[in-house]
Amino acid sequence: MTGELPPLPFALPDVGEEEIAAVAETIRSGWVTTGPKAREFEERFAASLGEGIEAVAVNSATAGLHLALEAIGIGPGDEVLVPTWTFTATAEVVRYLGAEPILVDVCADTLNIDFAAAAEKVTERTRAIMPVHIAGYPIDAKALAAFADRHFLKVVEDAAHAYPCADGDQRVGAGTSEATVFSFYATKTMTTGEGGMLVTRDPEIAQRARVMRLHGISRDAFDRYRSTASPWRYEVVAPGYKYNLPDPAAAMGLVQLSRAEEMRGKRQAIAERYLTAFADLDVELPPVVESGVHAWHLFIIRLADEAARDAFVAYLSSLKIGTSVHFIPLHFQPVWRDRAGHVASDFPVASREFDRVVSLPIFSSMNEAQVERVIAATREALA
Ligand SMILES: *Cc1c(COP(=O)(O)O)cnc(C)c1O
Repeated sequence: MTGELPPLPFALPDVGEEEIAAVAETIRSGWVTTGPKAREFEERFAASLGEGIEAVAVNSATAGLHLALEAIGIGPGDEVLVPTWTFTATAEVVRYLGAEPILVDVCADTLNIDFAAAAEKVTERTRAIMPVHIAGYPIDAKALAAFADRHFLKVVEDAAHAYPCADGDQRVGAGTSEATVFSFYATKTMTTGEGGMLVTRDPEIAQRARVMRLHGISRDAFDRYRSTASPWRYEVVAPGYKYNLPDPAAAMGLVQLSRAEEMRGKRQAIAERYLTAFADLDVELPPVVESGVHAWHLFIIRLADEAARDAFVAYLSSLKIGTSVHFIPLHFQPVWRDRAGHVASDFPVASREFDRVVSLPIFSSMNEAQVERVIAATREALA
């Protein structure tokens, strides 16, 4: 019977007629590059996090992370602490600036960066730390701030999984870090197709990121358009990048932003279904957030060992149910492994947990039948 069901992908964007109408209206307006919609998206996104926050819209989280590190002055010879349990983007942006990503092991329960392991990697060249809120489980905000203070480090949070998300009352993006960067990639908790947002409380970081996101030009196209005195005049103050978010994407983002809490609620409900349905199985379930908000971008379960995990993935695949693994630790990727001569035992927790993890489908447009199908297949595979 299940063989006749259509494929159930690991992730799908939750976009509908409202997003389509917003994009179409923006295209019809004639303003198809960065303009009024991007600015409105920035203002609403910043306001959603609280007062005193500035937001800079970019065309990916990778771009935002690069701009954030550039704005805080990371350069050749500097070292930046990066968890090994992340996507390669977190480390690659450090190399864009000629600095060195220093990989750090993670906590066994949350898979977020382990501050004790991080402390052992601090040298006189360490300038910053880039923690990742894995799966949307919030980093301990007080521990992060205390770690940064103790070692005189700047903080750029990779919040690609973490909108909306909070540790206690502390919303991710509204704390004391120099910058926090969200992703609006197709599979993330809200999407603009491709896109990202850098947020900061520091006006100088915001200003630098705005300039560098568009060729190092001191005024963007929309400002020039609005300026009547000399609309053609601009100054290039640095060799910048091309990281701006176009208005049709921003228009989609505005709709997604207005639905972000509703979509998180749906993922939370799916997570609760899974937690209940799998409670009696011989499987390790993801930790729940005691105080705060879990973004539930991913639902990562852990099986006995690599063989059990691979058999599980194969079984769900035979039922046309997509799964994924988040993440292959960076110290296993040739570029990062070979650069630092890493071996598995350098990161005992990540190396061990990697063998066991698998991510189940959890996206807000999943319907009841799809959730049931994942539950039934998982129970069949593991009971
Ligand atoms: C998706 C992701 C990124 C990159 O986001 P883009 O918007 O695709 O550039 C960075 N870090 C983590 C942890 C991610 O999952």
